[in-house]
Amino acid sequence: MKVGVTGGIGSGKSTVCRLFAQRGIAVYDSDAAAKRLMGEDAALRRGLTARFGAETFRGGELDRGYLAAIVFSDPQALADLNALVHPAVMRDFDAWAARQQGSYVILESAILFEAGLEGSVDKTLAVLAPRELRIERTCRRDGCDAAQVARRIAAQLDDDTVSARADYVLVNITEAELAPAVAEFDRIFSHEAQRY
Ligand code: ATP
Repeated sequence: MKVGVTGGIGSGKSTVCRLFAQRGIAVYDSDAAAKRLMGEDAALRRGLTARFGAETFRGGELDRGYLAAIVFSDPQALADLNALVHPAVMRDFDAWAARQQGSYVILESAILFEAGLEGSVDKTLAVLAPRELRIERTCRRDGCDAAQVARRIAAQLDDDTVSARADYVLVNITEAELAPAVAEFDRIFSHEAQRY
């Protein structure tokens, strides 16, 4: 069974996924995979070069600054980039999932719903936290300013939409409650996986 874990900036999804990993569950980090595949997947590299030009790669290495500058100001370019990257990530995820032993695996993605990736998983778990806590945690972690985090939160799907689309919701408030909550979801997912 494939479980998608998602959540907005500072919600704690990476922390939650780390706790699942500590319980022996295989976790696929789709952000890291996207970065890796843009560097090493030949078909994806060809697609990126065809759409964005030979300048996309400088000395064989992806020029992130070049690509970021294009997609920042051009929504169609961003959509085209996603249309190239997401299928490559999902192909890699499926191949990775087939190699895992456990009864279920986790796909960690900040943009599971935004990118329409929920069709690639069987169940979804959304990690939510109050806005102020997300801002405080992110600023403490990254040292960035609160207004910038607030803008990023505003640009992401709101909690009501995420809750409505997710199969399960984990509200991440205190540190003490988090590990028991993950243990409970691990029990639920292990049980559900018997049907797959
Ligand atoms: P992003 O999308 O920005 O990567 P994220 O959803 O993956 O964020 P995390 O990195 O897991 O969020 O958490 C953000 C910060 O908050 C981290 O420094 C983490 O250690 C801390 N944190 C997460 N959950 C809790 C909690 N329950 N209590 C205290 N701190 C927490």
